[in-house]
Amino acid sequence: MTQTKRVAVIGGGIVGATAAFYLSKKYDDVDIYDDGMGQATSAAAGIICPWLSQRRNKEWYELASKGAAFYPQLMHDLNEPLSDSDIYQQVGTLVFKKKPSLLKKLEQIALKRRETAPEIGDIALLSPKEIKAKFPLYGLEESALFASGGARVDGSLLTKKLIDQAIFNGARHYSEKVILSHSHPSEYVIRSTTQTKTYDAVVLAVGAWLPELLNPLGLEVDIRPQKGQLIQLHLQEDMSKWPVIMPDGEKDIIPFSNGKIIVGATHENDGGYDLTPTKEKLELMLAEAIELAPGLKNASITSIRVGTRAYTSDFAPFFGAVPNYPNLFTASGLGSSGLTSGPLIGRMLSQIISGEPTDLPLSDYPVEQYIKKIQ
Ligand SMILES: Cc1cc2nc3c(=O)[nH]c(=O)nc-3n(C[C@H](O)[C@H](O)[C@H](O)COP(=O)(O)OP(=O)(O)OC[C@H]3O[C@@H](n4cnc5c(N)ncnc54)[C@H](O)[C@@H]3O)c2cc1C
Repeated sequence: MTQTKRVAVIGGGIVGATAAFYLSKKYDDVDIYDDGMGQATSAAAGIICPWLSQRRNKEWYELASKGAAFYPQLMHDLNEPLSDSDIYQQVGTLVFKKKPSLLKKLEQIALKRRETAPEIGDIALLSPKEIKAKFPLYGLEESALFASGGARVDGSLLTKKLIDQAIFNGARHYSEKVILSHSHPSEYVIRSTTQTKTYDAVVLAVGAWLPELLNPLGLEVDIRPQKGQLIQLHLQEDMSKWPVIMPDGEKDIIPFSNGKIIVGATHENDGGYDLTPTKEKLELMLAEAIELAPGLKNASITSIRVGTRAYTSDFAPFFGAVPNYPNLFTASGLGSSGLTSGPLIGRMLSQIISGEPTDLPLSDYPVEQYIKKIQ
């Protein structure tokens, strides 16, 4: 049953697109505003494998592992096939460590985590020969840990599908940069160069741009941008079932269907909001990837992608209601795992607006810790 509340979502990356999709099933009047269609989401590498991360933050792990487990449900809700989709595919992940002892330790962590996260799938230490059977480009003699539940996702295709479905359900999409103001105790005004509209509830899913959007309301936000660059290559191979490769360090290798293979990404804390590719950084990343996968020498570069991640000062994400602003909701600080956690966060934002229980306790991701009144 649809309801009459006027709802706006600012930001059409993974969080905003998912929130808009679920909101469009419940409300007749949903508008989505986005000036870049997911600046981080469309640049992202696409790895969904939180279980093998050695990050210690319990709340982050809970969010990321539940976020990864949510993907099959999301695909179902989008009527997207699980076994053969260009958007999302569980192809498995191969994780490398510099020392065999660290690989053994990771295997123990993975086995322990599987007790509460069966989505991780089969775990196995693979020899170089077994790795080559799964990833024919492999050229080293090191072993790796394989987790069959690891997945790859095309962030750009996923957000497009979510927005298209939201539009199909009656939502409207505007490719515009907007500003927000608070007109009445429970109403918000959104202005673009072409229109001004009033809403009963607003979701701010603008990633690294949250400080800019909330500053005019007298709020400061603990968010900083981090630049990420990656290279998209093309190979004449059917890579649709090849696993995601996660070597020790920054450069991951993510094969997709249709001959697409990604190498990346950089993590540049001094890059600000700049989206200019840097030749030296990209060349270095590609050279390192070729050491692991010499067959990449035959690949042609089809594009360079640059995006901006949003980080809080303690690297933790937050989402929920903006304090002292009724019916204003937000999520940010998803860092380098937002493709993994973003869909679940988007659905939770829609649950909050419609008064349903959320998948995770909001108190573990407190907005008030990161958004404060400017003194
Ligand atoms: C290079 C790179 C690789 C990554 N790889 C992975 C990965 O492998 N796995 C993983 O889990 N995560 C990965 N991430 C992280 C993930 O992409 C992000 O955390 C996630 O996409 C953030 O989503 P978001 O919806 O919060 O923000 P975004 O995708 O940035 O979307 C925010 C949108 O809001 C728009 N916007 C901002 N202000 C306004 C305004 N005033 N008016 C209108 N629109 C506005 C922006 O233009 C943008 O389109 C990667 C990120 C990068 C950059």
